[in-house]
Amino acid sequence: MTVVSTVEEVRKQVKEWRRQGLTVGLVPTMGYLHEGHASLIAASHRDNDKTVVSDFVNPIQFGPSEDLESYPRDIEHDKKLAEQNGADLIFHPEPEEMYHEGFSTHVDMDVLTKELCGLSRPGHFRGVCTVVTKLFNIVKPDRAYFGKKDAQQLAVIKHMVNDLNMDIEIIGCPIIREADGLAKSSRNTYLNEQERKAALILSRSISLGIDMVRNGETDAHRITDMMKDEIAKEPLAKADYVKIVDCETMQQIPTLDRPALCAIAVYINNKVRLIDNFFTEDI
Ligand code: AMP
Repeated sequence: MTVVSTVEEVRKQVKEWRRQGLTVGLVPTMGYLHEGHASLIAASHRDNDKTVVSDFVNPIQFGPSEDLESYPRDIEHDKKLAEQNGADLIFHPEPEEMYHEGFSTHVDMDVLTKELCGLSRPGHFRGVCTVVTKLFNIVKPDRAYFGKKDAQQLAVIKHMVNDLNMDIEIIGCPIIREADGLAKSSRNTYLNEQERKAALILSRSISLGIDMVRNGETDAHRITDMMKDEIAKEPLAKADYVKIVDCETMQQIPTLDRPALCAIAVYINNKVRLIDNFFTEDI
């Protein structure tokens, strides 16, 4: 496995693979890799001849008061985990390599990005769509892998690829969790012991919602109200949103009469914002 930091090096390697008739999968990440990322890399390794992992904390998807500076980084650990799971190339650029002086073109999206995380994080999806488009143009993969953990991001990317006729198959992969249920996230490292315990309220509330759907509940508000009540029981937790939306348009729906996404974002100790979700189709 090789680690490169320039667009030119990625292009050279991918061109060589293409010359040999090989297929290429891309796994975009912000690094500090855990088993969630590992599952995406392993899926790409299974489906493609070669796998590229991008490892880049994308500054333009962070808001001014967000955690860009403190976001955890550990490229040596990332190299090991990526290689163990079948990565062939890591693209680890400096911000200047991705955003040269005078950079002024962005990819933006209406509707889907104005809900859920888009409401609390204005500009976030503009940054995501822009960096993912750049990565797609740099790597030109056959397939790209995204986690269902970031369900809105997955829907936005699928929508973008369709809108802009990008010839790339987007694969959504299941959420990987800790043994006690907490969805794996690089941001879990921000939690102290007490906050880590409190964070279990996310998966507990998700399980409650899943149980209600399993038991035949179709009233979206009844489900989200119960989930909000559950979150309110944890003194360190404050819900940002608990919503049920159409899983393609991300628009809220009152009744579970079509494939839906139930998504939550919760602040732990007014400090760390964590997300979790379930798709009704996966139940
Ligand atoms: P990030 O490094 O947080 O930007 O995540 C990179 C990719 O890994 C995204 O497609 C995420 O949805 C995915 N991912 C992060 N955490 C998990 C998880 N717990 N399970 C599955 N995929 C995940």
